[in-house]
Amino acid sequence: MSQTIPEGAYNEFVEALGEDNFSTDPGILETYTYMNGLGQGGLGIQWVHRPVGVALPGSVEEVQAIMKICAKYKLRFKAHSTAWWVQALATKTNCVILDMRRMNNLEINTRDSFAITESYVTAGETQVETMKHGLNPHLVGAGPNASNLASGTSMQGTGGSSIRTSMQERNVLGVEWVTPKGEVLKLGSLNSPNAGWFCGDGPGPSLRGMMRGASGNMGDNGVFTKVALKLYPWHGEPYECDGTPPFFDSNERPNSYLRYVVWDNYDNEADALLRLGEAEIIDYNNRWAAGAFTSAMSITNEEYLEMVEKGEFKEKFGDGYWTFFINAASERALDYKIKAFKKIVSETGGVIYDTTVFGKRSHEIAMQNAVRAVWIGKAAYMPTSANTGTVPFSYETIDQGYKHALPISLDVKEEYASQDKILNEGRDNCYVCIDEDGHYMHIEHACLVEMWEPKAEPTGACIKGAARAIEKGVGFFYCSLPGSPKDLIIYTQYSSQIQKLLNP
Ligand SMILES: Cc1cc2nc3c(=O)[nH]c(=O)nc-3n(C[C@H](O)[C@H](O)[C@H](O)COP(=O)(O)OP(=O)(O)OC[C@H]3O[C@@H](n4cnc5c(N)ncnc54)[C@H](O)[C@@H]3O)c2cc1C
Repeated sequence: MSQTIPEGAYNEFVEALGEDNFSTDPGILETYTYMNGLGQGGLGIQWVHRPVGVALPGSVEEVQAIMKICAKYKLRFKAHSTAWWVQALATKTNCVILDMRRMNNLEINTRDSFAITESYVTAGETQVETMKHGLNPHLVGAGPNASNLASGTSMQGTGGSSIRTSMQERNVLGVEWVTPKGEVLKLGSLNSPNAGWFCGDGPGPSLRGMMRGASGNMGDNGVFTKVALKLYPWHGEPYECDGTPPFFDSNERPNSYLRYVVWDNYDNEADALLRLGEAEIIDYNNRWAAGAFTSAMSITNEEYLEMVEKGEFKEKFGDGYWTFFINAASERALDYKIKAFKKIVSETGGVIYDTTVFGKRSHEIAMQNAVRAVWIGKAAYMPTSANTGTVPFSYETIDQGYKHALPISLDVKEEYASQDKILNEGRDNCYVCIDEDGHYMHIEHACLVEMWEPKAEPTGACIKGAARAIEKGVGFFYCSLPGSPKDLIIYTQYSSQIQKLLNP
């Protein structure tokens, strides 16, 4: 659906930002109307509108000006960072997009281990800069190209390194936030004179939950202009690679250990994860299945099909396999960690594979995933053009994920794949990682879809999975386990009250 912007609003935007930084050109607007990002398979085509204008703010004052003009002319707004996620586009009519690419400053506090980042600094850039100081940021599974401000303030926030570098929501320290009324709100220590950015809470009750909730507000509560995020130790020289894309050649890493592991049943797999978390020895953990691995291993769709036909990944990895990475502080620490790792894997019936099991490519996929979270984007979009998932997507205990959520999504996926509504790339294509050495995990069941295929129908799989989860009392879409559907609605009611408070 297409609308136009009131003339008065257009003039005020141009006055506030300059002609180069505000556009209503149909050609420009069209490029902000489609994306091949996550969720497009499930939501994009139905939900995305053409924006009425695109603004490129360069400072917090310019963001305030945009919010005030939007409020005055009753225009909606949506900020985006790098726009890897479909909700970064106009999911409603009369919407101005704030493309935050001019706000790309990064400041690193090496003494207290945090980085103050603006919207358009990518996780990868942050990592390159912080590794020079023996520090490492959290990278969500979206990869190094995504914005860490976005995952901290507005999105869900897990990734394979969450086992060591936590959920992004828990890394958030001071926050600078422009509300829909154009006021600047400061959260945490930033709100106390001269205290700086070091703490996300206080004085008084924490507002971080209100800012983002469990899985982020996705751009409706205003615009975040700066956030401080915790950094973690990185042992050894910075990660480097040479060679040619997509596989590159990673440098040798001292005091590190990288392996694939396969368990032949879900119960043993869940038990092993509980014990590996308790042992506090792993720095990166990520479960994929043969489907995602094939997408990463192949360069063209022809090659993908050849690999599927050969079937060797499925044969070796069965229903799913794990990548584990250890980045130890010393040789002695590495030695201890490897011993503990091997003991747990062998006692739970797992098989350890060298990452070169399928040659150099398979090693590079493991290495770059473990350090840079690089390969998930490729796995998500080959060989079809869009990615979605069968619900439940859960953020729950390991037992809940494996024993309750996974069986629901497996059945729904099989039903939809058997009718060619989504791609059948093997029964299990489940993505999992555990957090903070604990008993919590993020589990989602990716599936691939080609939206232009006449039978494609990914949204149904989401709805059906959600309905079955409600029926069985299983949490879904990252919401905690509700007592009943009636209880689940309480979260939504609170979110909408907060929304009304911030944006009347
Ligand atoms: C292949 C793939 C895999 C993914 N895997 C994961 C994963 O494992 N874990 C995970 O947590 N996420 C994942 N995501 C989701 C999401 O893309 C990430 O959370 C990512 O970090 C968001 O960064 P971005 O730069 O793409 O944000 P954008 O797509 O630009 O924005 C994301 C949301 O935040 C809002 N937003 C962005 N910047 C601002 C701002 N300055 N002020 C207010 N609102 C803002 C947007 O409106 C939008 O709703 C994945 C995405 C893809 C494409």
